[in-house]
Amino acid sequence: MDQSIKQCLYCNKKMQGRTDKKFCSNHCRSSYHNAIYGNRTNYMRRINALLLRNRKILSDLFLLQRKGSYIPLSELYIKGFTPQHFTHQAKHTSKTLYTYCYEFGYYYVGKDAVKIIQEASIES
Ligand SMILES: [Zn+2]
Repeated sequence: MDQSIKQCLYCNKKMQGRTDKKFCSNHCRSSYHNAIYGNRTNYMRRINALLLRNRKILSDLFLLQRKGSYIPLSELYIKGFTPQHFTHQAKHTSKTLYTYCYEFGYYYVGKDAVKIIQEASIES
């Protein structure tokens, strides 16, 4: 019977003994998890920051938006809005797609302007 030789997942050092061991040391175990989950946390942190910035831009412009008027898309972009980052979308009427960053959303009015709305509750 030959015993399979395992390698440490982090440093590739060959290990003897228990075959269910994945790491040669506690140091390698924690380095490995930091490498994976540390990056994932960073990624989520960056996305969350972008979402919060979009929400802030929408909420600021929402306050400036006069009744019955629209916000030019350029206003959003100047402030650093990134349309590819949003929390959810919903169709409220048959055609209009609302895009949200948390409770603030918008929909296109023509090609170059949006109407910003604030959702009162998350059930819709
Ligand atoms: Zn190791």
